[in-house]
Amino acid sequence: MSKASRSLPVMVLGDSLAARVALIEMGDLGYATQWVGDQNAQPAPSRETFPGQRLTALKGQVGSFQAQLDGPAGAQSVQTAALIVATGNERRPALPTDIGPGEHRILTISKLLERIETPRTSGQVMEHVHQRVLLVLDWETKTPRQTAYELLETSQRARERWRCEVYVFYLDLIVDAPGIEALTRDLREAGIVFCRYGAGPDCPTPTLSADMDGVSFAFEEGQVSGDLLAFPDEVAPRTDTAELAQALNIRVGEDGYLQDVNIRHYRLGISSRRGVFLAGRCHADQTDTAAHDDALQAVANVDALLGSGTIARNPVIARVDMEKCVRCLTCERSCPHAAILVEVADQDVLAAHVLELACEGCGTCISNCPVRAISFVDQPIPAWMA
Ligand code: SF4
Ligand code: SF4
Repeated sequence: MSKASRSLPVMVLGDSLAARVALIEMGDLGYATQWVGDQNAQPAPSRETFPGQRLTALKGQVGSFQAQLDGPAGAQSVQTAALIVATGNERRPALPTDIGPGEHRILTISKLLERIETPRTSGQVMEHVHQRVLLVLDWETKTPRQTAYELLETSQRARERWRCEVYVFYLDLIVDAPGIEALTRDLREAGIVFCRYGAGPDCPTPTLSADMDGVSFAFEEGQVSGDLLAFPDEVAPRTDTAELAQALNIRVGEDGYLQDVNIRHYRLGISSRRGVFLAGRCHADQTDTAAHDDALQAVANVDALLGSGTIARNPVIARVDMEKCVRCLTCERSCPHAAILVEVADQDVLAAHVLELACEGCGTCISNCPVRAISFVDQPIPAWMA
């Protein structure tokens, strides 16, 4: 058991929606917080801010992590009880090329929304100058939930503000996110037309074209012409994801996002390192609503860990016999939970050393130690592990 005082701050990394929600909620629960982000963080009571700093290493274990920061303010070492990583993802415009000379008629969803919401100061007086807008999902790659939802919301704004016809073309519309199914139902009722393209194995490849007179989308059911064509932005993991994962000693998934999947951790947002939680789009494709809820889940996870004032160790943990240890580093390299280090610790001896609050008792180190220097505390080692 280790004391976990509420006066020890909880660190939130990132400038995303999930980061902002997590900071506010942690503060509302009475925790001191630390915000490490690119932008100028909003000051608040019991909140330390580290604008422009980045995390370079995370030492120690839950309850008493030492976070190493670096950046414009120089190298800093900061003590923190737990971390919520909410660094978000990256997005970039992705417009198809070579579809004709009518480039001015092809927009990203962000640009289309800007145009819809900007009051007209010149040009046509009538707002519904755009008689028909075509919106395309899943073009070349599957559209993520985040930008699919944005496209659908924008289609609704176009219909309301311009009173124009709106067609949404899709290959495989994802509706397994909060609100998307209800939104698509509302859009259909509002007269927005949904067209599925490329639905069968023998379907011809759909084509797009744009010229000075208009745009068109041709697919197996015919050709639809319009005035504007709009596409969602692409989203991707942040380019510094691998570097951040290395600093945190957690994993990156095959998709390039931070990975929260663990055979023993069934709740979303729990990383392989105890006390490090993931929230928002740094680890999952999410709509704004889902990113908000995910941040609340991360806060609940932190509170479940620290809220009682003590952090209990796992009932089963490993222990090293320092006299047997030959300091080969195998256990440190193979521990999936960053819970064992070869360092000078007990009795000033350089040997492997288990961080008791971090150890999940998985036994990986026991199986891999070449000199059988590791065992479980007060537990026999199962025959299959020895
Ligand atoms: S694997 Fe065994 S011998 Fe190697 S450092 Fe770890 S405890 Fe020591
Ligand atoms: S049992 Fe060993 S490998 Fe597993 S978490 Fe504990 S120290 Fe790490």
